Amino acid sequence: MSLDFRVRDYLFPLPILRLRSFLEKSQWFSAEKLEEYQMSRLKAVLNHSYENVPYYRRLLDGLGLKPGDFRRLEDLKKLPVLTKDEMRRNYPLLQARGMAAYRPHLCRTTGTTGEPVKFFLDKSSDVLEFCYYWRYWSWAGYRLHDPFAEFSLQHFIDTDPGRIHAFSRITNRLVLNPSRLSMENLGGFTAAIAKYRPQFVKGSPQSLYLLAILAERRSLDLRFRAAFTTGEMILPPHRKKIEEVFGCRLIDSYGHMERTVAVSQCPHGGYHINSEYGILETDERKELSCGDTATGGVVGTSLHNLAMPLIRYDVGDLIEVPRSGERCGCGRGLPLCRGIMGRTQDMVITPDGRILANLFILFNTLVGVKWAQIAQEEVDHIRVLLVEGEGFSAESERSFLAQLRGLVGEGVRVEAEHKAKDFLEGRAGAKYVPVTSRVRAENYL
Ligand SMILES: [Zn+2]
Repeated sequence: MSLDFRVRDYLFPLPILRLRSFLEKSQWFSAEKLEEYQMSRLKAVLNHSYENVPYYRRLLDGLGLKPGDFRRLEDLKKLPVLTKDEMRRNYPLLQARGMAAYRPHLCRTTGTTGEPVKFFLDKSSDVLEFCYYWRYWSWAGYRLHDPFAEFSLQHFIDTDPGRIHAFSRITNRLVLNPSRLSMENLGGFTAAIAKYRPQFVKGSPQSLYLLAILAERRSLDLRFRAAFTTGEMILPPHRKKIEEVFGCRLIDSYGHMERTVAVSQCPHGGYHINSEYGILETDERKELSCGDTATGGVVGTSLHNLAMPLIRYDVGDLIEVPRSGERCGCGRGLPLCRGIMGRTQDMVITPDGRILANLFILFNTLVGVKWAQIAQEEVDHIRVLLVEGEGFSAESERSFLAQLRGLVGEGVRVEAEHKAKDFLEGRAGAKYVPVTSRVRAENYL
């Protein structure tokens, strides 16, 4: 999930044009030249962090290191990995002194890995995010101001959960509400698409897959120039269906809200690691690696966010990278990875035919919850499992349940179940899935 193409992004035209023009060239750089760029940015981030960020000053002093001791990218390994727990504990100390100068804004993860984390992103990081998306989309032929459609539940949760679409003339962006996707409402979606004629469509794999199978069942002609997915792993049969129905390539990407690494597919199919965005390291796990590939946790270092620099941040997903540098058929110098094993989750379907993907974003409203999961047991029965954490708010639980009930409708019994803390010990090592369902949506469409 990423912020992209919002009005705020247009407020910094000069830095955007400068970075855009650099990124257009740097994608063709050699591996050595890309590393040179990373090293120059890393030096700037380390110097700034040592001078202005109390957490890093203490960390480096404690290890007897100075920013000058980092001469090669491998030297980063002299620092420990920054875990999410560590980040929560050191939240005030990770903020740069005089942070206001970087025009920061506060963000929170959606808590899909359990407990949410808070962090600041700044203007440089927004400029980077905008330029990253612009380049990645332009690989598929997108030009700024081309009309596009985007599924975003967040947009409607904050405004009007019952609406099907919204349109912004400034960005030519048609926002579609994934929680309203159903056979019954399909006409509302296709009417908006016919009116605004988006050439591209962006969404989670689940949302795009649903739109594709609904359109196929109604024999609708729904064509785009490219489909962009992000936020979850794409399953091969879902990719095939989306490409078939929309008559275009599906171009996948991987990112995370804290913005330390970004990976995007090119039209040749290669998953390119965007070297200029951040430094990606693999925390290799021997048991998962084999022969020519190394598999391990994603560890990322932001090269642009100075308000709250994240250095060697433990993102929490798994990545598979080739041991020897492979080149993509497109000729770009940006390194390749084989794939990212991020979040996977189920859709929830209701007796009246609503199909809900991405319900995990509702976790945003929960305060003081250590762990939560939405589990659909039957088509008319949902359990919400919760483990309370520090500062638990019963009021936030009530509003979360009210939002969930509103989305699934009256035909579904929603009940909360509070689990004791040792419940999590029993799940140690199990992959966290925010939404699970025993009901197969395909059987109800
Ligand atoms: Zn490529």
